[in-house]
Amino acid sequence: MADHLFTFMGTAAGCGVPSFFCDCPACTEARANPQLARGDCGVMVRRSGLPEADTPTLVIDTPPDARHQLLREGVRHVDEILFTHCHFDHIGGLGEYEYLVQLVRKGAPLPVGASPEALQGILAEFHYMGYCLDCEQIEPFDEHVFDGVRYTALPVTHAPGTYGYLIETDTTRLFYASDTGPLPSETAERIRGVDILAMDATFWNNNWNPNDHHSIQECIAEGLSLDAGTTYLTHLCMHYDEPITHAELVDYLERYEGRVKVAQDGLSLAI
Ligand SMILES: [Zn+2]
Ligand SMILES: [Zn+2]
Ligand SMILES: [Zn+2]
Repeated sequence: MADHLFTFMGTAAGCGVPSFFCDCPACTEARANPQLARGDCGVMVRRSGLPEADTPTLVIDTPPDARHQLLREGVRHVDEILFTHCHFDHIGGLGEYEYLVQLVRKGAPLPVGASPEALQGILAEFHYMGYCLDCEQIEPFDEHVFDGVRYTALPVTHAPGTYGYLIETDTTRLFYASDTGPLPSETAERIRGVDILAMDATFWNNNWNPNDHHSIQECIAEGLSLDAGTTYLTHLCMHYDEPITHAELVDYLERYEGRVKVAQDGLSLAI
């Protein structure tokens, strides 16, 4: 029985939807209906069915919106952090955790796992937080186990040292890769046939950075070719180049008869 929940904390590419500087149809739609707003990308995995204080909790990435995302989900504590990579939209909220270490963990450093490149970047950016973090270097294909869930770091095509994580429970195989261009063949073979693929779908139509990101169309094509059970589009900008509203995107996805879905902030999947 699935006894963990995988929660999309944020589902936007950097700058969010709406972006404060943007009046495109997608941003206008999200201003009118805040349920369609997207914060920067991150996810959370926690055991279901336990009292809040006893719920083992791991997050992947600490986006700038981390505090609001944790409040929205009613989270009182986080036990471990894994990072995909060290770009601002994925690490900018790490500073929020300094107070967790000081006030709740009584100074006990928070376990943090990332590639050597990402750790170096994180410790440079948050140079005053070294005392808060218990850093573990994760090499490509390393496995990390937390609360009975296995996280395997798989290389993807983005900044040096960027990982997607293959997340495996007793019931579910899920691959989460918020930032990647076409998957390296070794990674693709490891994830073939996953139950859930939650992957980079940054652009609509025109992909500005085809070596580092997917368009929505490319994400769908890769998900189908990997025989993923359900593909969730995430890291959505909705508005670089050619805007697409949430309503238009949901219409467009109908042709895939449920095999492709749009992630939403706060959406939880049983895994
Ligand atoms: Zn916009
Ligand atoms: Zn990035
Ligand atoms: Zn990103």
